[in-house]
Amino acid sequence: MPLIHLSVDVEVGEQSVDYRCSRCGMVALAVVTGGGAGLAANGVALSKAQYDAEIGAAALSRLAPCPRCGHRSRAALFKVLAVGAVVGVATAMAAAFVVAEQFHRSDPEGRLAPAVGAGTFLATVATTTALKLRSVRRRVRLRRVIR
Ligand SMILES: [Zn+2]
Repeated sequence: MPLIHLSVDVEVGEQSVDYRCSRCGMVALAVVTGGGAGLAANGVALSKAQYDAEIGAAALSRLAPCPRCGHRSRAALFKVLAVGAVVGVATAMAAAFVVAEQFHRSDPEGRLAPAVGAGTFLATVATTTALKLRSVRRRVRLRRVIR
């Protein structure tokens, strides 16, 4: 039985932001579709507004690899990991709580819950990062601009 069910719901809309590669300096116009991705874990929406504020269209465009040199901003990636960690802590605590409740008799010392919590935390961070990078591939289109 999987403990976490993460789902992403994407809103429609399109935003254009300037893209400039920090390594090779290539300038492009990033067209980002979707007003924002709402993240839900176990059917509970996890502070959608906060998640969107942290990773807006501009940040999303920075997550796209540069079309010329393939560089991807580490700062933007780190931000995704940081947000994933916040979501991960909430999900891990929920999972640990469920485990502590359900295995109270077979595991009276409560050794299982922290382990499950830690595992859930890592899984959530990995999942949110993978989902985010997948949505970047789907939602960000880089258009070359001549300047
Ligand atoms: Zn580049």
